[in-house]
Order: sequence, then C-alpha cells, then structure tokens
Amino acid sequence: MKACAFCKQEFSSLTREHIMPKSLTDRKQRERGGEKPSRYTSKADKFIGGELTIGDVCRNCNNGPLSELDSYFLQLYDRYIYKFASPEKRIDFTYDFDKLARWLLKVSYNSARATNAPDEVLLESYSKYILGEDVRPKGLNIFLTLVLPYKIKNSEKHDPRIQDVDEIEPDVLRWSRVPDERLAKEGVTFRMVQINSYFFIVIMPNQVTYEARKWYAELKGFRKKYPQFRQLRAKDGVSRTPLKSSGVDMVNNYEIFPSANLSRIFELID
Ligand SMILES: [Zn+2]
Repeated sequence: MKACAFCKQEFSSLTREHIMPKSLTDRKQRERGGEKPSRYTSKADKFIGGELTIGDVCRNCNNGPLSELDSYFLQLYDRYIYKFASPEKRIDFTYDFDKLARWLLKVSYNSARATNAPDEVLLESYSKYILGEDVRPKGLNIFLTLVLPYKIKNSEKHDPRIQDVDEIEPDVLRWSRVPDERLAKEGVTFRMVQINSYFFIVIMPNQVTYEARKWYAELKGFRKKYPQFRQLRAKDGVSRTPLKSSGVDMVNNYEIFPSANLSRIFELID
C-alpha cells in the first residue's frame, strides 16, 4: 500500500501526475507548430523538452480536485497567458485568488517531490489547501510581473545562434524554489512559476510561527526589493488586478532571478 501525496489515503496503486499539466504543455506545443515546449528545471540547470511526471497521486485526487485546478488554470491561459506581454498593453487580470494559488502550490509541490527539494515537507503541509479541503494559509501572497520579449542588440548579433532573430520571446515553462537561505530557515515558502510572460511568485510564512506584524514587515521588504511585481488580491471570489509591463524582459528577469544564463536563454530559440 502506498499513500497518496495529497490526501494521504493508502492505495494499492497510484497514478502519475504531470508536474506541469499535460493540457498546458499540449497547448503550448500546438502553438509552436507541433514542437515540444522547452521546460526549465533548476536541478538539471538547462532547458530540455519533454514532460515530467510523478507517480504518487491517487486516482481520486488526480482526476478530481487536481484536474479541476488544471482546468481552471487553462482558462486563465486561454484568456491571458497565451499572449506574450507587450510594453504598451494594459491587462485587466481577473482571477480567483484561491484557485490560482492552489494551482501554483500544486505545481510547486509536485516539482519539490520530483526533485527532492528542501521545501518538500513544507509544501506537503499545504496539500489539504491545494485539494480545497482547508482554509487559506495565513499570510499567503502571490506576486506577478509580466516579462517582455528581449530585443537583441546589434552588439550581440555576433552570436551565430541569434544572428537572424530580433527578439527572444518569453516562450517558457519554468518553475523552481527561490533560494533565500534566511527565509528558508524560517520556514517561508518562496517559489516561482513562469508561464510565458506571466511570472508568479508564491510567498507565505511558516504557519506555526506566523505573526501578522512581522510578516507585513517581511512583505514590505519584498515589495521594496522587487518593485516590478504586483501583489494579487487575496480575497474570496473574483479579483481584478490591472497589469502593465514594468520593463522586465527575458534577460533582466534572469538577472533578478538567476538560475540560467544568457547563453541558455538563447537555446530557447527555434
Ligand atoms: Zn489522493
């Protein structure tokens, strides 16, 4: 008997859950004319095509609440995320905070188990919330920034891989833990998920030692350090946050969140 990573019930056999839902990778593949999307894993430290799965989820969770979350995110994808951001355009981003947060946490928890990340146990403690069976964790915050395509400078054209392209689009599926040793030690969840231009940060305090005042100060520091991010509204039901580009592009975004260098970004080009 094996226990499901989400509901903890024991089953004789478990099913495979995609870390990034197959519906989403299929959608991106179709948009790219059949080519597999690149994905980034911090463990492999490179962009590779293909799909990652993890085989420790029961059928009930996989086909029930987790698949409902995937459907919800796919709606957001079809409404907003499929389109790369442009410097001029303003977007009225409308979302259900909890469904979005639960989906981002699901991807993060799946990824943490697949790579034995140090925050696996922490993320596991939110599995009931991910399933929709627990209240929203205290101090849970989602931040979002739009990543623009990177315009290639003439001085960079000597690189044979980019001689014939003018810009690098944020054609990306990318997720990882944001390494911050101080916050990690305090049990703070700090994760990023990027799909195309939409770069999400999930940050929330240790639920056991949570103190509202201390956490507000922490968030204030976060906003100061990352002014390009908008904070999403943590309320029930539908929220709306106007988004516009803050000038972050594919390259300087990697400089802010270093986990790949410029030459690896160039590998994304068809
Ligand atoms: Zn289950």
